[in-house]
Amino acid sequence: MIHTVISGGASGIGEALARRLARSGQRVSILDRTPSTACPWWAELDESSRGTWVVVDIAERAAVAAAIDEIASVAIDGLVTCAGIASRENVLEVTEDDFDRTLAINLGGTVAAVQAVARHLVASGRPGSIVTVASTAGIGYVSGLGLAYHASKAAVLGVTWSTAGDLAKHGIRVNAIAPGVVRTPMTVPQRDAQGESRLGRRAPAGRLAEPDELAAAAAWLLSPASGLTTGHVLPVDGGQVASAGAPITGYEPSPIDTRDSPHLARRTA
Ligand code: NAD
Repeated sequence: MIHTVISGGASGIGEALARRLARSGQRVSILDRTPSTACPWWAELDESSRGTWVVVDIAERAAVAAAIDEIASVAIDGLVTCAGIASRENVLEVTEDDFDRTLAINLGGTVAAVQAVARHLVASGRPGSIVTVASTAGIGYVSGLGLAYHASKAAVLGVTWSTAGDLAKHGIRVNAIAPGVVRTPMTVPQRDAQGESRLGRRAPAGRLAEPDELAAAAAWLLSPASGLTTGHVLPVDGGQVASAGAPITGYEPSPIDTRDSPHLARRTA
């Protein structure tokens, strides 16, 4: 039975993936700060699909390694790193706390899980597939998302490329998905503020993504059907990235008007 670990599997894209993999008869284990008791859908999965659920802060490298050791009592075949937070403070606002926490979770948490799973895969001599979860904000500018979020998601792509290169000789593939705007708990504030149809119209496809559309892309990258695909970044974004080269979409423009900038005024005076 294929065994996949999902970080951030309690909610949103990770939950949709856990359900999808379980439906196809796979075993799923989860790392999340949220306990399984808060997720009634977990108990509804087939018992053979329910692996280990470990409550852990993904930013705690040693705790993540210990959790993966526990999960690996049943050999691991794959990992998808969904755990992440949004942050919206731009360059003029961003605090040290916001920067450090966002990087610790989105980047540090990705590295912690990837490293621990990669070590198990290599030690076991098994091939495997790792899928990181970046964002269109890791590829270009998305108005309304913050400096730390952009930096963390761009760095996730660096982790993906570096890891794909180093692990290929072990038969381990590493790819990234880059979601646009997805209908998950993370985007409730934007959807409430702007309305879903308005948000959706900003991508050429004209609508938001459903969590299972991201899960389907990750499931393909996990599967042997994508056997020669590694080091790839797959936007699942309704065409946002393709349409402009950079996804300046998804959120209201910043209220900051650079025409009022004192620096600009000085330069043009
Ligand atoms: P979500 O909030 O529904 O799920 C995120 C999960 O990560 C939750 O279960 C949460 O408990 C877990 N998590 C957060 N911080 C954690 C921590 N410190 N330790 C352990 N678990 C933690 O959000 P989602 O939309 O499903 O997001 C999944 C991933 O997709 C994130 O990395 C996000 O940045 C990325 N993404 C989402 C969108 C979108 O529009 N929803 C767009 C681009 C990228």
